Amino acid sequence: MDPQRSPLLELKGNTELKRPLIKAPSRLPLSGSRLKRRPDQMEDGLEPEKKRTRVLGATTKITTSRPRVPPLTAVPQTQGQTTAQKVSKKIGPRCSTTIATVLKNQKPVPAVPVEKPGTVPPMVGGKKPRKRPAWDLKGQLCDVNAELKCYRERTQTLNQENQQLQEQLRDAQEQTKALGTERRTLEGHLATVQAQAEQGQQELKKLRARIVELEEQLSTQDGLVRELQKKQLELQEERRELTSQLEEKERRLRTSEAALSSSQAEVTSLRQETAAQAALLTEREERLHGLEMERRRLHNQLQELKGNIRVFCRVRPVLPGEPTPPPGLLLFPSGPGGPSDPPTRLSLSRSDERRGTLSGAPVPPTRHDFSFDRVFPPGSRQDEVFEEIAMLVQSALDGYPVCIFAYGQTGSGKTFTMEGGPGGDPQLEGLIPRALRHLFSVAQELSGQGWTYSFVASYVEIYNETVRDLLATGTRKGQGGECEIRHARPGSEDLTVTNARYVPVSCEKEVEALLHLARQNRAVARTAQNERSSRSHSVFQLQITGEHSSRGLQCGAPLSLVDLAGSERLDPGLAFGPGERERLRETQAINSSLSTLGLVIMALSNKESHVPYRNSKLTYLLQNSLGGSAKMLMFVNISPLEENVSESLNSLRFASKVNQCVIGTAQANRK
Ligand code: ADP
Ligand code: MG
Repeated sequence: MDPQRSPLLELKGNTELKRPLIKAPSRLPLSGSRLKRRPDQMEDGLEPEKKRTRVLGATTKITTSRPRVPPLTAVPQTQGQTTAQKVSKKIGPRCSTTIATVLKNQKPVPAVPVEKPGTVPPMVGGKKPRKRPAWDLKGQLCDVNAELKCYRERTQTLNQENQQLQEQLRDAQEQTKALGTERRTLEGHLATVQAQAEQGQQELKKLRARIVELEEQLSTQDGLVRELQKKQLELQEERRELTSQLEEKERRLRTSEAALSSSQAEVTSLRQETAAQAALLTEREERLHGLEMERRRLHNQLQELKGNIRVFCRVRPVLPGEPTPPPGLLLFPSGPGGPSDPPTRLSLSRSDERRGTLSGAPVPPTRHDFSFDRVFPPGSRQDEVFEEIAMLVQSALDGYPVCIFAYGQTGSGKTFTMEGGPGGDPQLEGLIPRALRHLFSVAQELSGQGWTYSFVASYVEIYNETVRDLLATGTRKGQGGECEIRHARPGSEDLTVTNARYVPVSCEKEVEALLHLARQNRAVARTAQNERSSRSHSVFQLQITGEHSSRGLQCGAPLSLVDLAGSERLDPGLAFGPGERERLRETQAINSSLSTLGLVIMALSNKESHVPYRNSKLTYLLQNSLGGSAKMLMFVNISPLEENVSESLNSLRFASKVNQCVIGTAQANRK
């Protein structure tokens, strides 16, 4: 260490040593009372600031490590003590640190043994002085002088020392001053630091609160993060699953695409094929239509060749319980083509008992031969009969009005022929159900060629020139007719029966239901007014409408199936009672209408200008089915019994007349 340099300056430079300096006074052996203080008392004496400083800083060993200054007591009491006290008083306790520091850097003053004057002779020349005898005053004076000299030297030394000390004190004072300034600066710093510390504390507090808040947020976020992680895992799982599904679907899609492209190619080729076939189909349809029209024309020609008015004769079998007719009563000679030909002829043999012979010999029976378009012997089945008229019925679909009558006496089999036998046996089904079934099936076939057909049925009864609806239901069921025959529309030729039901039909079941209803209605009437069905005409009419929309063609015609009233005649001579008179009136009405029918047919055949349709309700209702374009078929039903021979003959004669009629060339009702 530079001996010229002040220890204080050195301390100033050493910031580490600044704080321990404050504590130094407690180590100074200045005043006895202060030295005797206990450390705790000394602590109490410290200012709070110093305490804090002491606590904060590590205690430096500057004072403790130096060799102890020899006690000032070793200096002659008067001088040493005075100097020390003077210094102490002058600098005050606060500067004792500096002093201590200064003292530390001084070489210790060599201790001078103090002897009480007169007790110990001063050593001379290093030799222990011998005790002078009391008498040796000179020697003693000499000793005292030596001792005085010694003391003077000592005093001189001490003065020098004192001087040095005073210099040092001045230095120390200066240093103290400097230290004071520094201290104030430091205090200022300290205050700033404390303010900063407080601010820091507050900030810290805020930061802690913020930390708490952030921790809370963190924990919330943690929870959220955990949840999100869980969700993420779930989503990842889902994604994996979806990815696999997607892959599977993609694979399927690829397969489908491959199949689609091959299908498309197939479709293209099929389309081409279809187009070619469509063209072919159109061509064939065209041809088919041409053929169909040709068929209709030829069919009509054939029907015309067969005759627009045809008469079929049907002989019913002998029923159980009926008397067997005599052999030869009815004969069915075979046709020109032999027995294989369908029979067309019938011979009826009648023995006229009124004509007698002069000789009284039995009169040979008179044979009456009849020829018809077709003759059905008793064994003929319903389907055989229908087969013959199927083609005629089909003409109605082609647009030609068709009318089929069943003529004959009561019990000859008219109803059996038209509607069928009892019990609903399909084998015994009559012409009406069979004709309708045939029409429905042919219409279905023609629908393939673009034809659409609709059918509307009506069924009325004409009794005593009154018209009654056989399809009436509810309260009108079985009641007398309030029906009138009117033109469907003003100026129209179509006729309609007022108050009668016109029921659209499209299948067999519907037709069956209608026939059943008609039977019920007749049965109710029978109980109310006795049997009258045989004395009334039953007219089943089917209005057929066909349309070929793509070609703009329409055709329509009525098919009429008529079960005529019994043709038997009543002997006017037998009409005695009121019942018989009523019966006579009925019969006259029937006969009148039947003869009107004959007259109408005749007039049509003769192409007369006036056709007496209006003479009877029957002909009036049927006028559109009997005109020039119509095709007519009459079944003449014959009883095989001998007792009915007369009526059979009448029927056959009527039928023969009709058979001779030819209605002009039929025209299809085309629009
Ligand atoms: P109509 O209607 O002419 O008065 P029906 O049709 O009622 O006569 O016939 C009288 C009876 O004869 C009925 O019992 C009927 O079943 C029966 N009958 C008529 N024709 C035949 C036939 N071809 N085969 C069997 N039975 C018949
Ligand atoms: Mg009948």
